Amino acid sequence: MSLAARIATEGARMAEACTACGACVQACPMTSFATGIAEADPTEVAAGMRALLRGAEASRVSLAWIGACTRSAACNSACPEKLDVALMMRFASMRARGALDGVPLLPVKTDSGWSARVKGFARLGLTEQEQAEWL
Ligand code: SF4
Repeated sequence: MSLAARIATEGARMAEACTACGACVQACPMTSFATGIAEADPTEVAAGMRALLRGAEASRVSLAWIGACTRSAACNSACPEKLDVALMMRFASMRARGALDGVPLLPVKTDSGWSARVKGFARLGLTEQEQAEWL
């Protein structure tokens, strides 16, 4: 089995335990940066993520949520099913970006250096005062 197939299988397995309760969406600090989430039902947003993991179609607002994920993992502690939601979001993002042998549903970044720059910036360990001045 290829790695992509293994990830797709594991994502679908995790999706089986998801009830689409929406608690992860409500706990997410990035929802204000995802178009349409403020007006959307959290259960429907979560259902789109679950559908994507199952290989089905996701709504536009669910894709926006997946695209806005910054891996804060605030979703994990909110999940009543004790699922690793951050990992589910990672798998959903991979599927949405065509990394699991599908058609990309979200824009794919072409700048391969952005991740290293973000990590480098995060490791600067800015104080709250510096963040207030710089960000
Ligand atoms: S909190 Fe857990 S069970 Fe509820 S929608 Fe999110 S992943 Fe699914």
